[in-house]
Amino acid sequence: MSTPVVAAARSRVFHELDFDRPGKQIGYLRVPQSRDGGAWSTIEIPIAIVNGAPGPAVLFTGGVHGDEYEGQIAVARLARELDPQSLRGRLILMPAVDLPAALAGKRMCPIDGRDFNRCLPGDPRGSFCQVLAHFVDTEILTRVEISVDIHAAGNAMEAALSTNMHYVDDADILRRTFTLAEHFGAPWNVVFSGVDETSTLAAAAERRGVLAISSELGGYGRVSVEGLRIAERALRNVMKGLGMIDGAPDTSQIDGSAATRHMEVPGHDGYLFAPSDGLYEPLHLSGAPVEAGQLAGWLHFVEEWARAPQPVEYRTGGFVWMAPGSGRVKKGDVVGVVMRPYAGG
Ligand SMILES: [Zn+2]
Repeated sequence: MSTPVVAAARSRVFHELDFDRPGKQIGYLRVPQSRDGGAWSTIEIPIAIVNGAPGPAVLFTGGVHGDEYEGQIAVARLARELDPQSLRGRLILMPAVDLPAALAGKRMCPIDGRDFNRCLPGDPRGSFCQVLAHFVDTEILTRVEISVDIHAAGNAMEAALSTNMHYVDDADILRRTFTLAEHFGAPWNVVFSGVDETSTLAAAAERRGVLAISSELGGYGRVSVEGLRIAERALRNVMKGLGMIDGAPDTSQIDGSAATRHMEVPGHDGYLFAPSDGLYEPLHLSGAPVEAGQLAGWLHFVEEWARAPQPVEYRTGGFVWMAPGSGRVKKGDVVGVVMRPYAGG
């Protein structure tokens, strides 16, 4: 009796692109999404592949979160403008990874209610975000050496304009990631371990041996003028730093400084968690210098208006990386993150 053959889990995503064809292709990944009135419907995820002369292979992503707009603009603009004749290497550009969330202007995907950046490495038999995440992990990250993911802080927060990277054990990878962040050229670069980082795109890239940085270039649910300027410059800076296009990275900052400041959030002490549900009044903007024990904000109890507001204090000193601005918060929500100068070796 023969053993039943169980098919390996294959992606259900399909496309008409050739990852190796020279020149520029602009198209879509098709994620099947059966619905009432559309049995064979697909969600079309924008993607461009640009193959030039031999060189590095790099992934640029935006719109992993739909309420973060700078990457959606910058990655799409680069895909339209880039001349493959001027490129050494391969670029894969995905300006709106979670397209349904981008069209809704929301962090969570409206199809399955998931955060795409908590779905890696995905599942080909899972929900929309899980199916797409599995394709990105198995078919995109396996074709690049470097991943640059453009985020902002969404509707709830605003970030000091920054790249971010994880603590990694390998000294050579750490050094090359710092260099990548320096070429990117944001005012700040933050090394962190995060609250829930194992299922992000950056973590999946690292598991694939791909050099990865992410970024936070705005927030409060709007397009940051300076964040977008940094994002657009950064994509070309990264290519220049890798020798993919001519020129040297321009890392001059708006305050006249010449380079990126390396910072870190070593553990969870830098995170402020709301002690109760309420209306949060922040006292500082992103980038502000703060001290341990300093008042960070007040939690107001609107329905119990005679009750005194509850103070929230910083647990560590440094500079505000993430400033809250959502108004209503729930107990356990992060209402601020503090970064301090990088002290690691
Ligand atoms: Zn994001």
